Amino acid sequence: MNVHQTHNRLFMMLGLFAFTVMMPLYARAETIAGCEADTILTLSQQQAKTPIETRLSESLTLGFRQQFADVVSQAKQDLRRKAFWRWNRKMAVVLDLDETLMDNRAYFARHKVYEPDRWHQWVLKAEASAIPETLDFVKWLDRKDFKIYFISGRKEKERAATLANLKAMGVSEVDGVYLKPDDYDKASAANFKVAARKEIEAKGYDITVVMGDQCSDLRGGYGSGDELYKLPNAIYTIP
Ligand SMILES: [Mg+2]
Repeated sequence: MNVHQTHNRLFMMLGLFAFTVMMPLYARAETIAGCEADTILTLSQQQAKTPIETRLSESLTLGFRQQFADVVSQAKQDLRRKAFWRWNRKMAVVLDLDETLMDNRAYFARHKVYEPDRWHQWVLKAEASAIPETLDFVKWLDRKDFKIYFISGRKEKERAATLANLKAMGVSEVDGVYLKPDDYDKASAANFKVAARKEIEAKGYDITVVMGDQCSDLRGGYGSGDELYKLPNAIYTIP
């Protein structure tokens, strides 16, 4: 073997080593379970593909309910474990609202599609019911003294109605509710949601769980991935 061959072999081994060690780290940072697909159909494409009635029935199936409950109970188990090992940390939990804690199927049953004005009127009514699994989870978080933050794509002008809706569900003692500025015009809510999470961490809290029904609730820089909980949503996917 000449000097070049030795060098080549050395480089190959180094390359292989770097690939083997770095790849899982990279892949871990990029992957959120349930968010692998990168194409999102528009709401009207979703409606054309599968009518809302079918999607609403899907959301009532035992299989779907079980899938939802499993994600919530997994988050709870992980929090218990982390709280045990990190008892001295200020741990915060971030949750989305619509289709995470708030059930808006009554809106979709009536209007079928998302339509901004009608949606706004629906939000102002403060009549969304609570999703039982998430409501239990929030009450448990409260009893265990975790900090609870909601970060929602609802708008500031819907704050009073949203707080009234939460109160009607029995959720009144939360540490913060972040809503989108009224003039927010980005296609995805992710930027706004990441900024809100940074603000919470800047207060000195360690965000231990982020839970939401859309990938945009979770994307954007909470790299290790083990604190991200993607709930299934049978009725819609938004960017
Ligand atoms: Mg949501």
